[in-house]
Formats: sequence, C-alpha cells, structure tokens
Amino acid sequence: MPSTLYKADFIDQYQRPLRDLRISVTDRCNFRCAYCMPKEIFGREHAFLPKSELLTFEEITRLARILVSLGVRKIRLTGGEPLLRREVETLIGMLAEIPEIEIAMTTNGSLLARKAQLLKKSGLDRVTVSLDALDDATFRQMNDVDFPVQTVLDGLAAATEAGLAPLKINMVVKRGVNHNDILPMARYFHGSSHILRFIEFMDVGSTNGWRMDDVVPAKEIVETIDAEIPIEPLEANYRGEVANRWRFKDGGGEIGIIASVTQPFCGNCTRLRLSAKGELYTCLFGNHGNDLRALLRDGASDAELHQQIAGIWRLRSDNYSESRSSETPASPKVEMSYIGG
Ligand code: SAM
Ligand code: SF4
Ligand code: SF4
Repeated sequence: MPSTLYKADFIDQYQRPLRDLRISVTDRCNFRCAYCMPKEIFGREHAFLPKSELLTFEEITRLARILVSLGVRKIRLTGGEPLLRREVETLIGMLAEIPEIEIAMTTNGSLLARKAQLLKKSGLDRVTVSLDALDDATFRQMNDVDFPVQTVLDGLAAATEAGLAPLKINMVVKRGVNHNDILPMARYFHGSSHILRFIEFMDVGSTNGWRMDDVVPAKEIVETIDAEIPIEPLEANYRGEVANRWRFKDGGGEIGIIASVTQPFCGNCTRLRLSAKGELYTCLFGNHGNDLRALLRDGASDAELHQQIAGIWRLRSDNYSESRSSETPASPKVEMSYIGG
C-alpha cells in the first residue's frame, strides 16, 4: 500500500512517490456528460483519434511494466469509455501477468452487464461505476444521449454477480442539475457493500463551462446526508487516497467524498496518467504531455524509457488544485476524456 516510502522509491519535487497509473485506453465515449464531453463541443461524431494513433496493447503493457518497476502498484483503465476499446479484456489479461499490482477500471456502466464476467475472468480486480442519478430523467439529462439508468443498474448487478464487489460508485454533483439526487443515492446504497463517492464538479479541461457556483461543496454534501442518515469520518486507508472516507453510524456501510475543489489533496497525489495516444501527464490539469509513443516507435530500449520516465517523475512539481485561485490564468487544459479521469 502506498503509505510507506521504500528505499528504491522515486520521489518528485514534493517527496511524493509514484503509486498509481491511470491509462486512458480510448478517447471515445458513448455518453456526452456536459461536465466532461459536452455535446455542443464534441457533437455526436467528434473527430476521435484513428486506431493507428492509439497505443497498442503491447505498447501499453510494456510501459506498464516499466512504470511498475518505478513504484506503480495500482493500474486503473479509464478513458473515454474503456469498455468501448475493442477486446479491452485482452489488455487486462496481459496486465494481470505483471506481479503484485491491482487492476481497476472506471466505466460509465453502459456495457457492464454484457462484459462483467469476462472482465473478472481476465483479471480485473475492481470496478468503479459512474452513476450521477437514480432518477431516470435526470440521468438521461446528465449523459445527454438519453441513456436509461436501468441499464447501468443492471451493470452493477452483473458486476456484483461476477465477483467484482464491493464496487465504487462515482456521482459527480452539479448544483441545479442533480444535487437533489444526493439523498436518494445515499439511501439506495446505504446498507449495501458498495462505496458511493460524491465528487465535486471540477474545472478540468476547457470545454465544460465550469463555474464555482455549480459546485456543491463537500461540507454541504456531508450535512445533507448527515441530517437524515448520520455519518462519521473514517481514517484514510493509505497515503494518496482520493476520497475522504465516512461511515454510516448505524453500520450501513461507507461513503466517500472527493473534494478536489474545496479541500484539494495535491500533497498526497501519487498519480500519473497515460493518454490514449501515449502521452504521460503528471497532473489532471496538465496542458503538456510527454510523448512516450514517439520513443516507443523510434525503438527506445526499456532502459531508455525507464530513465526518461524516472526523470519526468523526479521533476514533477504539480499542485494545481492547491494553487488554484481566481488569479490562476485560464490556460488551455487537456480534456479528461483524453488523459483519463
Ligand atoms: N467514461 C468512464 C466513466 O464515466 O466512468 C471513465 C472516464 S470518466 C472521465 C472518469 C470519471 O471522471 C467519472 O467518474 C466522471 O464522472 C469523472 N469526471 C469527468 N468529468 C468530471 C468533472 N468535470 N468533475 C468531476 N468529475 C468528473
Ligand atoms: Fe464519457 Fe465518462 Fe466523460 Fe461521461 S464522464 S462523457 S461517460 S468519459
Ligand atoms: Fe494531483 Fe494535479 Fe489533481 Fe493536484 S491537481 S491532486 S497534482 S492531479
């Protein structure tokens, strides 16, 4: 677990070790959540990357092995929608051969009912499913492609059945859109083994029209739930854990709050992101990626790649969320669907 620093650890400029790797396996998505890929910008048929631009499974696995030798212990497959990448289960099987790592996936759940068994069989350890509302009309409005909530609920059931539980459920809360779903979601998952996580709407990317007024602060989320189903804070499981943990006082399970806007956690950020076309980003709010695909396709050796990546991590000094202020210049930021949420 990433709470301990090991002798051979690579640390960045703020003494943070590398522990987590998020891999965007595709920039495509079948949803158009306004906070991520708004339809007005991405349309229905956005010009996504051609297949030749995507890293192959062999390239991803090779980089993953090198990153594991640099400290990575957990790999999360994301996107875009990772289940849209053809035969992603083959990639999972290849990654599962790397010793001592946990493999997780974040998905919108639309294809999970069909894929859950296969994913588990291929070596997936954990799954996080995004679910922004239980109310069907609100859910359809949030995904903006009229996708029914029941299909995602069927996906949760299939994942549980496949042995992927306890699941994490991510709900991005946007004021005026789904904040009335906070309590129904808390009630629904209260008493289950799943961990519901509320996420503050973030100013990631440059297209989602983020405004502070649309953010429902963590404090307000906690107060809303606590007023009906009392909760109390829990200790973090390990350094770098993204969510603040809470538990229902009556023993009805655990919830998490990801307060990246009002209570940023850059000090413990141990994450590196690999984009669908092989660029390495040291921060979710980065505007520059390091092109590893060029190195791979120019014939770099493992030792050269290792040296290059170690150098990138050692120089890392990102702390965007902690230094974010009204004075933060509005420089273009990479879209989350591209580097992986
Ligand atoms: N398509 C998959 C999904 O939705 O789960 C994986 C990729 S998505 C970019 C990963 C996570 O980022 C999702 O849980 C999504 O809700 C979250 N996310 C996307 N845009 C966000 C934003 N502006 N603020 C907070 N969370 C966001
Ligand atoms: Fe697609 Fe996930 Fe972004 Fe929604 S949050 S548009 S499901 S990538
Ligand atoms: Fe990590 Fe960047 Fe997010 Fe801070 S803003 S927690 S450094 S990804």
